[in-house]
Amino acid sequence: MELRTYFVETWGCQMNVLDSQCLEGILQARGLRPVDAAGDADVALLNTCSVREKAVHKVLSRLGELRQARLDTGNPRVIGLCGCVAEQEGARLLARSAALSFVLGPGRINQLGTALDAVRGGERVSVTGFEQRRDIDTHLVARGSSARQFVTAVHGCNQHCTFCVVPYTRGHELSRPLAEIVAEVELIAGAGVKEITLLGQTVNAYRCPETGANFADLLAAVDAVDGPWRIQFVTSHPKYFTDKMIASLASLRKLGRYLHVPFQAGSDRVLARMHRGYSCSEYLAMADALRAAIPDLTLSTDVIVGFPGECDDDFEQTLALIERVRFGQLFGFIFSPRPRTPAARYDGRVPQGVAGDRLERVFALQGAIQLELNQALIGRSVEVLVDGPARRGASIWQGRGDDNRVVNFPAWPGIAAGMLARVTISGATAHALLGVPAAGAKRATRPAGA
Ligand code: SF4
Repeated sequence: MELRTYFVETWGCQMNVLDSQCLEGILQARGLRPVDAAGDADVALLNTCSVREKAVHKVLSRLGELRQARLDTGNPRVIGLCGCVAEQEGARLLARSAALSFVLGPGRINQLGTALDAVRGGERVSVTGFEQRRDIDTHLVARGSSARQFVTAVHGCNQHCTFCVVPYTRGHELSRPLAEIVAEVELIAGAGVKEITLLGQTVNAYRCPETGANFADLLAAVDAVDGPWRIQFVTSHPKYFTDKMIASLASLRKLGRYLHVPFQAGSDRVLARMHRGYSCSEYLAMADALRAAIPDLTLSTDVIVGFPGECDDDFEQTLALIERVRFGQLFGFIFSPRPRTPAARYDGRVPQGVAGDRLERVFALQGAIQLELNQALIGRSVEVLVDGPARRGASIWQGRGDDNRVVNFPAWPGIAAGMLARVTISGATAHALLGVPAAGAKRATRPAGA
């Protein structure tokens, strides 16, 4: 079976985006080239996410569409299931869907070639589980042309929050050697990348397996690499921010002014049932210490409403915490039971209608806070990394400042994605800023480097 073309469909988080780039790199190294639609591809990969409910249902429905495309056009001849649903379901999905050629978990990405060879030999294989090392040839990662790139610092997670499927789908926590991360950052910085985001489910728990260096050491080493404009990292766990680490963060030259630190619930009772490992007052102390050290910091967060047993008073405490911290960005979710997680078996289920009302109240409060915070920026001059047209073909372009806020502004001749430009904020909504080119911005594009 000759395989010449591929299509990778990516669902979910930044980790999956980076995993897809790794998968693409392996396919390209085998001589396959990308096409724009699964129906035109010899090989179609679904890189899936299982964080939300009905993930398996969604995968089966997409597999049905691909199977129909194969009946109609002969392609995709090979369909591979990757990502967290692959790890979660493994061989079960292979048995359920005849359309599927192989299943490949996130810990086995580097075995894509082996899986394809097996399929070409007439087998259907499921490759899941986790190894002690996860070796990816970083030279092979198909990074595309974006000026923003991700680099993995920590694989997996050991926290076992009771609602979360990640420890089961991405395995135990495994930090990469510091030297390996820095070498990868140097490699992509040399290619002109301007913003590098270090990834990990609990990235600030980083500990170099070779030297014992901690996350502050890693950031200092990455900060010293010539080239990038900004360094970001995501996701941080509140309990790993020590005073020493916060002081180290404040001393970095290139650290972005955006920090994502999920609080999940504002009630100690719920936090304990979630097994989060901190109290509400500890979270607030951490937020205060971060802001004291980095005054222009934008904090972003995740919150879950309707966790089993969450009563009205617990929820009011969540609202109070949002009001107190005034996050620049908030991602809110209704609790959904995930396979294998303890909370899926908890009693005290909150009715969907109640949880839905709570989420609306969270969004209403957050929307009002964001609007105020954004309006306070009107008149300020900010440097943005230009992403491209806000919509295809539009004359309004968009970029992000180093606080990760989206800014929309009119294009000018010579504007290009990946350029740094200065804009003056001229208007604000709750979710975006409007800008105009600052005086001289049309000339003032900086080369890479802080
Ligand atoms: S720390 Fe994050 S990824 Fe790890 S179990 Fe908790 S919610 Fe999941």
